Amino acid sequence: MTASTATTPRPTVALRATGTTVVAEVLDSTAHDDGEGFSHELTLWIPSGSGFEVHHRCGHYSGEQRLMVLVDPVVRTWAVVH
Ligand SMILES: [Zn+2]
Repeated sequence: MTASTATTPRPTVALRATGTTVVAEVLDSTAHDDGEGFSHELTLWIPSGSGFEVHHRCGHYSGEQRLMVLVDPVVRTWAVVH
């Protein structure tokens, strides 16, 4: 029998624990009519570390200039907060 210690393995999806919320700038957006509505191809600039650019396909976008993004700057894992 092994005792349970405080050492727990890092879960793969640890973004909510390790990530920080930043405001990403929408550099570019292209609307696609996919029949049932529009989706948007977004180019975002994430100002984390030295900053980096990502692409996000989105059905929730409605013209915002900035979007909240949850990001882990170390591994550059990110997720748009909607
Ligand atoms: Zn989105």
